[in-house]
Amino acid sequence: MMRLINLEGRAGLEVDGRFIDLATRSDGRFSSDPMGIFPMLDEVRAWGADQAIGERDPEVDPKRLGPVVPRPAQVFAIGLNYKDHAEEAGLPEPQTPMVFTKFPSCLAGPHAEIPLTSDRVDWEVEQVVVIGREAKGVSAARAWDHVAGFCVGQDISDRRLQFSDKPPQFSLGKSARAFGPIGPALVSLDEFDDPDRLVLRCRVDGEEMQSSTTANLIFSVPELIEYISGYCTLLPGDLIFTGTPGGVGSVREPRRYLRAGETIESEIEGIGLLSNRCIERI
Ligand code: ZN
Repeated sequence: MMRLINLEGRAGLEVDGRFIDLATRSDGRFSSDPMGIFPMLDEVRAWGADQAIGERDPEVDPKRLGPVVPRPAQVFAIGLNYKDHAEEAGLPEPQTPMVFTKFPSCLAGPHAEIPLTSDRVDWEVEQVVVIGREAKGVSAARAWDHVAGFCVGQDISDRRLQFSDKPPQFSLGKSARAFGPIGPALVSLDEFDDPDRLVLRCRVDGEEMQSSTTANLIFSVPELIEYISGYCTLLPGDLIFTGTPGGVGSVREPRRYLRAGETIESEIEGIGLLSNRCIERI
């Protein structure tokens, strides 16, 4: 069982709300770089099981957390992967996973401010899968062996940019600066009783906009890994944003978009909360 975090650029474990610095506590056995742990995940897990909190371990200030995976080689994202979201978008359920990318430079910490790039920026709470072991042509039956764990993600989307022409351009419209807040922790798979059923929610300024469970995914996590790894090699640290449930702003009556000063709260039970304030474009 493990909660990995990135505290101001240093990798660590979160235990009872406190920070155990991986590099200093292990006398340099493990890297201080949050990306450096991926080649040694099993060792970190085994070592972490024996670590107890000391008086000198600081309390985790959520505002100081960076993106738990700051520089993945690849970030995959899935469109229309919940039935109610496909319905509200007026589109048929996809027969194959609809895959796009969020460029990794959009990743941000769980409390990052989000500069709004237009008057049509929207929210999408998502479960994010973190790959732990390379996956190449992996069957759904073996897919969980390649997953390190989950974090919460927001697939912030500028609908004006996304749908500025036909066909739409998903990747750019969802990759502006800070459009990919993730965290607050990477929670290992063994922390979940049922990794196929996680409750996720999104609120904007306290108003609940989205509420669902990952049991409602059209393509489950193992199916996504089988599909993507049939074409691309998934690398340790890669992310998969698995799609958003119904309740986004752009298809509401009346339409509802994010405004400067509003706070988006995105939550998954057993993982934690992202709290991102929207600001004017800078
Ligand atoms: Zn999405």
